[in-house]
Formats: sequence, C-alpha cells, structure tokens
Amino acid sequence: MTDRLYYRDSFLYDFDAEIREVLDSPRPAIILDRTAFYPTSGGQVHDTGWITSDANAKFRVTEVADTEDGRVVHYFEADRDFDKAALKPGTRVRGQIDATRRRDHMQQHSGQHVLSAAFLRLYNMPTVSFHMADDYCSIDLDTPTLTKEQIESAERLANEIILENRGVDIRFVTREEAGKLGLRKLPPTERDELRIIDIRDFDLSACGGTHVAQTGQIGSILLRKTEKVRQGWRVEFVAGQRAVATARRDFTTLTETAALFSAHIYDVPQQAGKLLDEIRSLRKQRELSQEELAAAQAAALLAETAEINGRKLVVHTLSDRELNFVKLLAQKLTRLSPHAVALLATTSPQPALVFAQSAGQPFDMGALLKEAMTKLGGRGGGSKDLAQGGLPNAEGIDSVLKAIAENLAA
Ligand SMILES: [Zn+2]
Repeated sequence: MTDRLYYRDSFLYDFDAEIREVLDSPRPAIILDRTAFYPTSGGQVHDTGWITSDANAKFRVTEVADTEDGRVVHYFEADRDFDKAALKPGTRVRGQIDATRRRDHMQQHSGQHVLSAAFLRLYNMPTVSFHMADDYCSIDLDTPTLTKEQIESAERLANEIILENRGVDIRFVTREEAGKLGLRKLPPTERDELRIIDIRDFDLSACGGTHVAQTGQIGSILLRKTEKVRQGWRVEFVAGQRAVATARRDFTTLTETAALFSAHIYDVPQQAGKLLDEIRSLRKQRELSQEELAAAQAAALLAETAEINGRKLVVHTLSDRELNFVKLLAQKLTRLSPHAVALLATTSPQPALVFAQSAGQPFDMGALLKEAMTKLGGRGGGSKDLAQGGLPNAEGIDSVLKAIAENLAA
C-alpha cells in the first residue's frame, strides 16, 4: 500500500519518494512508496504536478488514481521513447503538486463540508453525494423541497463559519470511537481506523480528502443553481477563488447585457421583460396585418383574373415574402373563390412554390408540384388541393409556372 502523505498534511506540496513499480499500461504510470498526490476519490478530483528523477528527467503527472488494493497510480505524460532508465524501480524521485489546483480543491471540498453541515443543522437535510467538476461543485440533498429562503440561510451560515476562521483538524479514530462521536457521515467500508475531518464545534465527517487548516482559507462560498433530482435537490456551489471568478464572469455577462439595454444591471430583468412584451405584441400585429394583406391581395388577383372555362387560374410570383405568407395568400384565394386554381411562388428570402385549388376543382396540386420540383431541382409535396416546396434558387420559376398554366388551360 502507498503511504499517503496528504492524509496528515494537505499543505505538503513537495516530497521525496522511491519508485516501487513502473506500470506497463497504455499510458505510462508509476507507483511510489509514498505520495502527496491525491487520487480521484470521495467526490474530489485528483491532483496534477511533476515527478523529477535524480537523473533530472521531469515528467508531468496528468492523472492520479486509486487501485483496489490501496496503491496510488501516477499517470504521466511522456514521448514513446522517453528515458525509461530514469524511472525504474528503486529510483529516488521528487514529487511536486500543482499547488494552485490543490488549494482550489481544498477550498471546494472544505467548503462542501461546511455547506453540508449548514443544511443539516438548519433544516435536517443530509447530503447524499458530492461532485467536483472543473468549473463548479454540487451536493445532492435528501429533501423533498428546497426554498429560496433555505438556500440563502444555509449560504449565510456557511459564510459565517468561514468568517469565524474555525480550526479544521485531521484526527484518526477507531470505528468504535467514531460511533460515539456522532459523525455527520460514516464511510460504508469496514475499516478499523477512520480519518476524521473536524471543523471545530461545527462538523465531524469521515473523509479522505485534502482540507484547509482554518475555515477562513475557504474564502467564501456562493450557492448557484438548484434543481430537483431523482433523490432530492441538487445545489451547485463555488468556493474560494472560484466564487470570485464566477462572480466576475456573472458581472461581465450582466454588464454586457445591460449595455444592450442602456440600463443599470439591476434593471435588466425588467427591461428584458418589457422587450419581450413588445415582441409578443408586435408579432400579434404582424399576424393580423399579414392576414389583411393576403386577403386584399387575393381579392385584387381574383378581380384582375378572367374566368376561363368556369375557372380562375392565378399565376403570381412574389418577392420578399416568406413561404408562410404565400400559403396564406393561397388559402385566401381558394376560400374567396370556389373556382380558383393558384400557382404561386416567392423568389426571396427563400425561393418556394405553393400550388392550391378550391375544393372540388379537378387537378392534383401534389402531382403538379412534384413535376415543377423535378424541373427546378427542389423538394416538396402535398395533397390534391394544396402543395408546397422549397427551391435552391429562383431561376426558371416563371417559365415553369407558365408552362404548367398553359397545360391546365388547354
Ligand atoms: Zn469530504
């Protein structure tokens, strides 16, 4: 088993060790007799850093993982033909932890203990899981409901505990002793010795993670999104420098948005709401106008089209009209007259055809449209009375419509 130096000192960033094994895995990896590198476990993600051999070969440690039998595997970056002699069993090496990343993990993980204890103390909501991602962390609370007031109160209490700068001690106790201490969380595995993280007079948890020495080092904790999950409620949070970085990003986003409205950031929700109301109202007005315009245009087209063989054949090409407007026009034509057959097109913004006939007319619009599409290179279809299709460009529309109209009139 690897001697885990981080169990006793989370601030140990440099250490000496000896290589025990070199793993023949697809990715090069080594096992040391002792390590300060934290392997991914208990919700906390692994450390990164460097391993330097006496021969002065420096390797970047990119991932650290636990094995089932208690060894810690250090995966490192290396070329295919790296100097294997520099890393063989028995070699003395120096390990260096990426301290910035470690400090961030300590802030998040200790922040989580404080936050979980706050939810438990205030509302008897136990934490059932903890997840640490690159940008934010989350805990899942076992509770059917979670209010905005509860979120704000837990956040306030957690930040008070941080401000009080309470000691955070690492203690090792037997399982029996642990039972008497009243831990917030006992690990499921049967181990004789338990490692306890003791936040003075606030929280006792069995945990193998790396933690700050004083709660003040957490800096601050900021609760973010909450959402209902299968087992309760998920609460996203950020602690320490992440909280500052997140608040900075939020402020930048909000400032950019406020500039669009020429408003103060706190007036953005009201301004956005007002704008959405305006858009809804304009959409409604536009719909009405289009209806009226289509009806008027249909009436004019019918008036100027002579009835031949008891039928009014309207052939008309529009521009700057959406397909929806052309369909509306077709609808108006076939409703205003029981004898209408309409071959309509729009050339822009997107070229399209709409063919329609009044109920009872004898042609097959779907078949006619397919014929036109074959000639013009588009796609579409429809029923006997109404068909539509889109075209890649407006070329040739008028001549194809004219040819179909001549066939229908014959
Ligand atoms: Zn923990």
